[in-house]
Amino acid sequence: MAEESGEEYLFKIVVIGDSAVGKSNLLSRFTRDEFDHNSKATIGVEFQTQVLEVDGKEVKAQVWDTAGQERFRAVTSAYYRGAVGALVVYDITRRTTFDSAKRWLDELNSNLFSLSLQLNLNIEARSVGNIEVGIGRAHCDTAVTRMLVGNKCDLESIREVTTEEGTELAEEEGMFFIETSALDSTNVSKAFEIVIRDIYEKVS
Ligand code: GDP
Ligand code: MG
Repeated sequence: MAEESGEEYLFKIVVIGDSAVGKSNLLSRFTRDEFDHNSKATIGVEFQTQVLEVDGKEVKAQVWDTAGQERFRAVTSAYYRGAVGALVVYDITRRTTFDSAKRWLDELNSNLFSLSLQLNLNIEARSVGNIEVGIGRAHCDTAVTRMLVGNKCDLESIREVTTEEGTELAEEEGMFFIETSALDSTNVSKAFEIVIRDIYEKVS
């Protein structure tokens, strides 16, 4: 039906965070309603696509998963290229993964920043010839929807990171926050839908 009206949306969303926080399972829960108890490095698959309807329009979410390279803290800039949304995931039962979330955010911001700065350079070089760094920053902040995700909330008894700490960090960074469980499905669709809806509202 969206095709009849000639309107289609494709949003690239990246999922980042430390190894074993549940990134691949969040993705498989969202796109296939599947959960895998055996953690194994994601091989071969770069992204999965899920179609949603927002305000009667067909929206395709192309969600990218790291292929295990996050173990080496070396996700390439190509991974971030063109992304309009990002889920930064940590594991509520491992504080180290929450501490890392800040570094993932920095990496995300600097990649998106340099890309939008390049775009601004290209656009403004012609008309103004003088680039203000602040333009790139403001541009990238408003353009990319970011959500902090505390996963494995089914493991309440061994929680190490409180909900308040997650909320606080997200507020500091000006991003959405949610706690999820890829295991029992809590908030998984909701997390993706909030991000997708927010992007949709920015572009429509
Ligand atoms: P990734 O390395 O971030 O992609 O993490 P995976 O999706 O491979 O998950 C790592 C491990 O955590 C696996 O053993 C999963 O079964 C487990 N896991 C993932 N999500 C959850 C969750 O929400 N709850 C629980 N209890 N375990 C989870
Ligand atoms: Mg994985």
